Amino acid sequence: MDLDKVIRKVPDFPKKGILFYDVTSIFINAKAFKHVIDSMVEIYKDTKIDGVIAIESRGFVVGAPFALKKSIPLVLARKKGKLPGDTIEHSYSLEYGEATLEIHKADLTPGKKWLIVDDLIATGGTLEAVARMVERQKAEVAGIFSIIGLPFLKYEDKIGRYKPVTLINYKGE
Ligand code: AMP
Repeated sequence: MDLDKVIRKVPDFPKKGILFYDVTSIFINAKAFKHVIDSMVEIYKDTKIDGVIAIESRGFVVGAPFALKKSIPLVLARKKGKLPGDTIEHSYSLEYGEATLEIHKADLTPGKKWLIVDDLIATGGTLEAVARMVERQKAEVAGIFSIIGLPFLKYEDKIGRYKPVTLINYKGE
């Protein structure tokens, strides 16, 4: 499966100079979507994973079918203000400004091993924020998975120690 052929690329979105890799073009292609989830199952077949943490919102679409296939819990990492219960939160820098992600505190069971899932790794700041929350709860990061990686943005510097896995990488212009 050549994912590159399936992934829609949108220049200058959401702003000038950014090439946006749109994974919704995978979700509408049943064969490609199945390939992504089957690949995850194969990659992590020998890794002990107690649960999946999926990042809002495209990460939800990747994390949910994997959790269901593995019959393990799915926890949502959401943008601040969306979760009703007692939460743990982590703020991090974006290119412009700050963002905050939250997770229900009671869901992040200490001592368990979590796979953190998103659609794309750019600088790695988003995934690192979630990894920090996992560690603050005295749980463990079993791995990080994303369909697309942009290694030229040096995400290995931030999250390399969590052994990030991607199915396809792109180079900068
Ligand atoms: P980062 O925290 O820098 O790794 O950014 C990752 C988040 O931003 C992911 O949730 C992506 O969905 C989104 N993102 C960043 N850059 C792009 C891009 N070029 N194309 C599509 N999504 C992106």
